[in-house]
Amino acid sequence: MSRIELKKINKYFDHNHILKDIDFVIEEGDFMTLLGPSGCGKTTMLRVITGLENPEEGIITIGGKEVVNGRNRYYAPASKRGLNLVFQSYALWPHMTVFENVAFGLTIKKVTKQDIRKRVETALEKMRIIQYKDRYPSELSGGQQQRVAIARAIVTEPKILLLDEPLSNLDAKLRLEMRAELKRLHRELNTTIIYVTHDQVEALTMSTKIAVFFEGDLVQLDTPRGIYRHPADLRVADFIGNPTINFVDAICSYRDGCLVTESGLGTVNIPSGQKHSGEIVLTIYPEDITIHEDRNESGIRCIVSSILPAGSETLIQLMVNDQTTLLAKYMGEKEYPIGSDVWITFPKEKVNVYDRGSKRLIP
Ligand code: ATP
Repeated sequence: MSRIELKKINKYFDHNHILKDIDFVIEEGDFMTLLGPSGCGKTTMLRVITGLENPEEGIITIGGKEVVNGRNRYYAPASKRGLNLVFQSYALWPHMTVFENVAFGLTIKKVTKQDIRKRVETALEKMRIIQYKDRYPSELSGGQQQRVAIARAIVTEPKILLLDEPLSNLDAKLRLEMRAELKRLHRELNTTIIYVTHDQVEALTMSTKIAVFFEGDLVQLDTPRGIYRHPADLRVADFIGNPTINFVDAICSYRDGCLVTESGLGTVNIPSGQKHSGEIVLTIYPEDITIHEDRNESGIRCIVSSILPAGSETLIQLMVNDQTTLLAKYMGEKEYPIGSDVWITFPKEKVNVYDRGSKRLIP
């Protein structure tokens, strides 16, 4: 009932093409995150699904029922689409207490008073704001208001929940707790969730699927692991890396099931079924690089140029052959002396190869 299908959605603001031929399906029970940098069209996509914006072209169906048909100029009103939306600007009613704000959706559904109290209190407990139930929104912090907005959205147990950066006002610790809470809610309520964020860690930790947007294009739709392991192009690779992924310019030729790559790292053979040759870019995550203190025959010699302790893990900047800088990450607090030699190894299958011209992944 809550499968959402989008076909060839195009949306313009004035002469600006904001959403370009967007085609995808959100299956019932998905936790689908729309991810991308600021201004890429995520919020507009969400507003088009809810009916707060109308696309000039395209078709949207929800549960098999057409709610948008651009060609026929048919746009079902937002209230008829069975969706529940939480905005980053939470829009609580200022004259109602927290309890009344959360209860509102149930009072208009004619639920009994006793049931309302029970369901509202459960939602407030889940969001850990039960102690504020008699306060007015103006008496709450931004983060507390954000949690009231989520409680208000989940109390009616909607089939589809849309969340636009709902954790943006929380401090780091609470954000981490709320991610776990939202993931649990998704599992327990079996709700389809569409979630907008520009935070790749948030997307990777909570979603069942991620749709990555750049400049109005849907560039990649995959599972979090698929997006992380095989970013479809160099923009996605750059966006997903945390800390930033290593890019190494190289040239390659194909031989015996391998791309033979020549770069500042020397000759590295990457297993591949693609008979590709020419200018490429290699990507390696800092966490995929292993550092060896002693000479390693199969390793690449580097010089330690900087150490950046980050609590339980450490970032290390390395110089290879006086021309290539690499960032590596390891667990622990060990500090290698600046200027000392170390050797690095990395699993070849974790290196991705991109065509330098088109910037696309060579699978
Ligand atoms: P953010 O993460 O900053 O919220 P976003 O990816 O959600 O960004 P959108 O809010 O969808 O991006 O905006 C996409 C583009 O459309 C932006 O260039 C924005 O300036 C433009 N835009 C959004 N709403 C309007 C509007 N009502 N009128 C004109 N342009 C708009």
